[in-house]
Amino acid sequence: MNLPRLLFLPVLCLLIAARVHSAGLTLHSDFPGGSAEVHALDAGAGLIEISPVSREGRGWPCWWYFRVDGARPGQALTVRVKPAGRPFRAQERLAAAWSLPARAAISSDDQTWRHTDPGIVTQADATYAITAPAATFWLAWGPPFLPAHSEALLEQTASRVPGAERFVLAKTREGREVPGIRLGKKDAPQAVWVHARQHAWEAGGSWVGRGFLEWAAGDTPEAAALRASTEIFFIPIMDVDNVALGAGGKEAVPRDHNRDWDTRPVYPEVAAAQQRVEALIQAGRLRCYFDLHNPGSGDKQPFFFGPMDYEQMTGPRRASYDRFLSLCVQHMREPLPILPRYRFATYVKTQEERDRMSGNWVRDRTPARAVAMTLETAWNTPHSTQDGYLHVGQGLAKAMAAWLRE
Ligand SMILES: [Zn+2]
Repeated sequence: MNLPRLLFLPVLCLLIAARVHSAGLTLHSDFPGGSAEVHALDAGAGLIEISPVSREGRGWPCWWYFRVDGARPGQALTVRVKPAGRPFRAQERLAAAWSLPARAAISSDDQTWRHTDPGIVTQADATYAITAPAATFWLAWGPPFLPAHSEALLEQTASRVPGAERFVLAKTREGREVPGIRLGKKDAPQAVWVHARQHAWEAGGSWVGRGFLEWAAGDTPEAAALRASTEIFFIPIMDVDNVALGAGGKEAVPRDHNRDWDTRPVYPEVAAAQQRVEALIQAGRLRCYFDLHNPGSGDKQPFFFGPMDYEQMTGPRRASYDRFLSLCVQHMREPLPILPRYRFATYVKTQEERDRMSGNWVRDRTPARAVAMTLETAWNTPHSTQDGYLHVGQGLAKAMAAWLRE
């Protein structure tokens, strides 16, 4: 620990009080995934003002999530969110838009989330006029998906699908388990690998993943046929440490999970995923690799980051990507239709960095009959809800099953 960090800590502790109260109204973020730096809590004026917590070295400070106790049900409150004031690494500050959704997520049970009315979003902050739904309620950037959600989803899936097996992909650097599940025909000639949350703040990716898994584990003839012919691997949360901390993960120090795919990965869970995916590739079994994310605030429909060399592709490889996309257009329609063309991560400037992105890492190793893709599901639309995300995941699973049947 260096000197500036030592000086920084006491200040941080004062600012990020885990529990702040004003005449009966209290605000808490001391739970898994919680993130709120409180600037104002005024019960009389009905004002709550927070920023996401900026945790040095732990990635973009855009995720926020807190609980309010002691409200009067029906009480009108103004919730103002300001972007984090401090740099998240070196002198880098995050653009405000990442932390200011048009609609916040609100819940009275921390399980079922709905949107608030649209807030007033400016370059400086977002202001949401809400009505307290209960004495205790939760507000967040979007519907949270935490390690506890993974646990419940995997347990439920394992208990209802014959042959489904939970596994621990790895233990993180901070000692947390990274759970996953495999289902379908063990050692089948074809396999698919799906994971979410290489970027911790992108909670929507895990909800999309849940939709994918629930469809694949479901009772339809198409899902049963998929399981009879294919082995499916799914990891709901890769960056468990930053999700548990309520940190963003993206552009963490020294690098984030989706820039860690080289010969010497920093994160044990990336190393373990590489090993398992590589083994599937070596056995000639990997047909699909999907890495689930959320994009920028201005992206209003889901899209795939496709292969960088797509325009130069010919023959069977090009045919695979084209056919896969056309099936996605057919199956991923409501309420968030997939963009009917690939986009490319050209914002990543160097070949060296591009090679460390998981989609490219997998793509470079797979034959023409496989597709490797990053799915970016829009988070800043009226349909970017638990239900909307689940539908995107279901659509992806349906399209994939149709593609594998051909
Ligand atoms: Zn991402």
